[in-house]
Amino acid sequence: MSRILITSGPTRQYLDPVRYLTNASSGRMGSALAIAMLQRGHEVVIVSGPVDVDYPQQATVHHVMSTEDMLTVCRELFPSCDGLIGTAAPCDYRPVKVATNKIAKTGGPLELHLVETPDIVATLGSEKSHQWLVGFALETEDHRFRAITKMERKSCDLIVLNEPTAMNAPDNQVELIDRSGKVIATFVGPKTVVAAGIVQVIQERLIDNQ
Ligand code: C5P
Repeated sequence: MSRILITSGPTRQYLDPVRYLTNASSGRMGSALAIAMLQRGHEVVIVSGPVDVDYPQQATVHHVMSTEDMLTVCRELFPSCDGLIGTAAPCDYRPVKVATNKIAKTGGPLELHLVETPDIVATLGSEKSHQWLVGFALETEDHRFRAITKMERKSCDLIVLNEPTAMNAPDNQVELIDRSGKVIATFVGPKTVVAAGIVQVIQERLIDNQ
């Protein structure tokens, strides 16, 4: 039995007490992967941003808000885990300054000064010891090339390439690419079916070899 860490859902970066930057990630793919891993008898720990989706009861769920929070919690959990699946869509930018009070309208444009947030998968990849890592890539151009570059940059063993239409949708269409750049599997259908396929590949190529 392995202990699997799954990041899931979006994160939020607040601009002021009521407004925030985020994306449409639903957490459905994370939940489907958790179910598929549990069905194979593995222990699942989820670190999730704010979502409406239900995670399986047998999984331990840590709820976080920002990308920095997600990284902090993941760093605490990762050393005791055997592998990571990064399905989360963490918000990539945060405002340099979070306003203490609600930003008042002035009638003019509002300029936001944003900086990049840390990359969770890349950070854990650079700190890993025995763990395997699986990342996701959502690309709108040069799909495979960009996915492979990401896999290398983030020290992933496999990368799951999906389309922007996957966001907040019940279905998904993915290609799994290995470190040699080869497409080793393609799965299409409801996220539960796609997750079962991805988990089977992880089981055969990463868990059984660990
Ligand atoms: O660079 P990009 O966001 O396209 O990479 C996607 C992969 O990186 C996903 O596995 C996602 O969970 C992960 N990621 C992350 N931390 C970020 C941004 C993306 O872990 N700040």
